Amino acid sequence: MTIYRGTVLDTPVSPFDGGALRAEADAGLAVVDGVVVERGPFAAVRARRPDDEVVDLTGGVVLPGLVDTHVHFPQVRVIGGLGRPLLDWLDHCALPEEARMADTGYARTVAAEFVDGLLRAGTTTALVFGAHYAPAVDCLFERAAQAGLRVSAGLVVGDRKLRPELLTTPEQAHADALALAGRWHRKDRLRYAVTPRFSLATTEAVLESCAAVLRDVDGALFTSHVNENTAEIDAVRALFPGHVDYVDTYHRPGLLGRRSVLAHNVHPTDAELDRLAAEGASVAHCPSSNSALGSGLFPLHRHVSHGVRVALGTDVGAGTGFSLLREGLQANFMQALLGSAGLPLTAAHMLYLATRAGAEALDLGDQVGDLSVGRQFDAIWVRPEDGCTLDVVLVRAADADDALAKVFALAGPADVRAVWVGGDRLR
Ligand SMILES: [Zn+2]
Repeated sequence: MTIYRGTVLDTPVSPFDGGALRAEADAGLAVVDGVVVERGPFAAVRARRPDDEVVDLTGGVVLPGLVDTHVHFPQVRVIGGLGRPLLDWLDHCALPEEARMADTGYARTVAAEFVDGLLRAGTTTALVFGAHYAPAVDCLFERAAQAGLRVSAGLVVGDRKLRPELLTTPEQAHADALALAGRWHRKDRLRYAVTPRFSLATTEAVLESCAAVLRDVDGALFTSHVNENTAEIDAVRALFPGHVDYVDTYHRPGLLGRRSVLAHNVHPTDAELDRLAAEGASVAHCPSSNSALGSGLFPLHRHVSHGVRVALGTDVGAGTGFSLLREGLQANFMQALLGSAGLPLTAAHMLYLATRAGAEALDLGDQVGDLSVGRQFDAIWVRPEDGCTLDVVLVRAADADDALAKVFALAGPADVRAVWVGGDRLR
């Protein structure tokens, strides 16, 4: 029973498949019970609904809620550990902090910081790497439920090549995951995600126990890392001599499907891309993390030409912040730096990767990802402060595509003025 009035930008059809930015200046979105029930010029929507409350979002732009397909809850406080390659960064920055999650009080505080960070950045849906400790994962789910965010997450598991206190066993991993899923899966806006850390830290037995959880928990997601760094890939090859490649270590136990999201995939073979496409799995592209760790330049063109679904992730804390707008910009830079091998990204591509593509990767495409009639009202209002640089250039934008490019170039969490999930204002 509310009409939201503003300039609405979204990408219901993929620009990689010929879609374009859908832009409506002075639009009206009528929302009932959290769902968009009518959309059109504000004056027309208002005329049909004279008694509805009007929320004025004119100035700035209204975008679909942002979708982060790869972000680590325990790593908020290690953002900024720059200058190390992946395996060195894990040992010195990430894993010591992951071990601190054994303290549930500490984990609860970090969970609050994490959820707040997502919200401030305008992220309304996220696939989250949990912690190695079940009580810490409970803290994350509790806080996400309180806030009202759409979060899929799970216990991170590994049984080798990690600090001893982070190790589990296949049996324990299975039991802990089922207990967590029983408490949280499909409760409110939450879902369970089966989460081996990466093949480098898991034996085949743990990957098989993960596959058993995936079979046992209807509608669960699967997520992990793949092909991030060449030293990591060499190490995985040495640990799995009977496997064809890195993707095969997940495929063979039955972990790949349309609710599977693998982060990075900076260095895939053509056979791996074919496999991911055949299984309908998605790749979470994390350009600021790839840049910070020097992992490499993401071959987006090869993913698209092989038919692999790609969305964006911030990969906090290797990534440098929670803003998917900045990840879109960094993805754009990365494709530019690839020269003739790159896939030039327009503002519409960036918005699609940060919204609709993420919703589809997380199997939520029928609910969120754009602001069409029938979708949940998951939205953000980007409204810069009067007189700041974004405001100055936004009011002079040539057209909607230009305005959106300016948002990606300049907007950050401070410009996200309001956030809704399912029609509930969360911020
Ligand atoms: Zn990661």
